Amino acid sequence: MPNCDVAVLGAGIVGAACAREFSASGLRVIVVEPNAVGSGATNAGHGHLVVMDDSAEQFLLSRYAMKLWHEILEDLPEDCEYWKCGTVWVASDEEEFDFAARRGSFYKRHGVRAELLDSRQLTALEPNLRAGLAGGLLVPDDSSVSPPRAAEHLIRIAQSHGATLITQRAEKVAEHKVTLSDGAIIHAGAIVNAAGVDAAAFTPGLPIRSRKGHILAVDAGRSFARHQVMELGYLKSAHAESEADSVAFNVRLNRAGELLVGSSRQYRETNPNVEPKMIAWLLRRAIEFMPAIANARPLRNWIGFRAGTPDGLPLIGPCHGFEKVFAATGHEGLGATTALATARLLTDEILCRTPEIDPAPYLPSRFLNIRN
Ligand SMILES: Cc1cc2nc3c(=O)[nH]c(=O)nc-3n(C[C@H](O)[C@H](O)[C@H](O)COP(=O)(O)OP(=O)(O)OC[C@H]3O[C@@H](n4cnc5c(N)ncnc54)[C@H](O)[C@@H]3O)c2cc1C
Repeated sequence: MPNCDVAVLGAGIVGAACAREFSASGLRVIVVEPNAVGSGATNAGHGHLVVMDDSAEQFLLSRYAMKLWHEILEDLPEDCEYWKCGTVWVASDEEEFDFAARRGSFYKRHGVRAELLDSRQLTALEPNLRAGLAGGLLVPDDSSVSPPRAAEHLIRIAQSHGATLITQRAEKVAEHKVTLSDGAIIHAGAIVNAAGVDAAAFTPGLPIRSRKGHILAVDAGRSFARHQVMELGYLKSAHAESEADSVAFNVRLNRAGELLVGSSRQYRETNPNVEPKMIAWLLRRAIEFMPAIANARPLRNWIGFRAGTPDGLPLIGPCHGFEKVFAATGHEGLGATTALATARLLTDEILCRTPEIDPAPYLPSRFLNIRN
């Protein structure tokens, strides 16, 4: 007799979203998390909920996720810091401006509101941007939350539907069976591996690579930025094939009035400490776009490890060698955004429902040739 229908391993924003969706669908859920809810990569993230189109598959997943977020954002408690901040993508030169125009047209054709901004409109929207930028793109329905607070909220909803949170480490996973650090065993109809960068430890074959990121918080004043403001060059650096360290300008004010300055990407770096050279680089890049950041007082900084995959898409679906063990990891820099879509796709899979978007591009088997 199983203890639950689904055991969820990990209570970051992805595991929390899964727990909420499963339990709201009537499944009996146990969540296993050795640390505080939302204390992994979720605690390090910027919390930008954003439609992205590095690839068609990423666009479909993030657009679907934003639709699901918009169903619940207005009802989030205050501490989740929901803000419909919109994204202002900044084009530095004509090449990037052409890209902004193409992206804007694509978004509009596919139901995502977007508005192309000329140079004057851009600085009217964000007066702290330097003069001489080529223009930009406003995506007004992108939003932001505090990822750890949102994860806690999702877990509380799951608990209100009967889910149990166990503060233990999962040590071993077998079909229908999770062994915990105290030796106890959970028997589950299905198991969802949402352990972020640690996910491959249970289910070998998941091609997860950690990607370190830094964020710096500065005191620049409470009205310094009116949106999430990002360079369009972000796409070149953050999502490029290159594995060299990179930094891209990306800022937003949080509820406390701190300007969050992001973010960096490092593939080979496993050092869990903040690196002063990366913080200095973040700051330099930010000042290139918003010179007044040079006068802002640094407040704090931190790092996190994103779970990346070779093709930049998450791993959502059955793990190699298992029938009922599912992956929910590999969300890299978009896990806060795509958590709800991940949860819905897995619920559809477990309950044999027809999903609203095609799950095939996200199946782990795309790396193993076992199931298309
Ligand atoms: C600097 C930075 C900026 C980011 N900005 C954004 C952004 O603006 N927008 C966006 O959408 N995304 C952003 N992200 C990405 C986003 O934060 C992640 O994709 C997301 O938090 C991943 O959530 P997760 O639940 O998969 O992983 P995690 O939050 O890492 O959760 C995994 C959990 O599994 C637990 N775990 C590990 N081992 C075990 C075990 N043996 N048993 C049980 N549990 C275990 C861990 O304790 C952890 O709590 C950013 C990330 C970083 C680092």
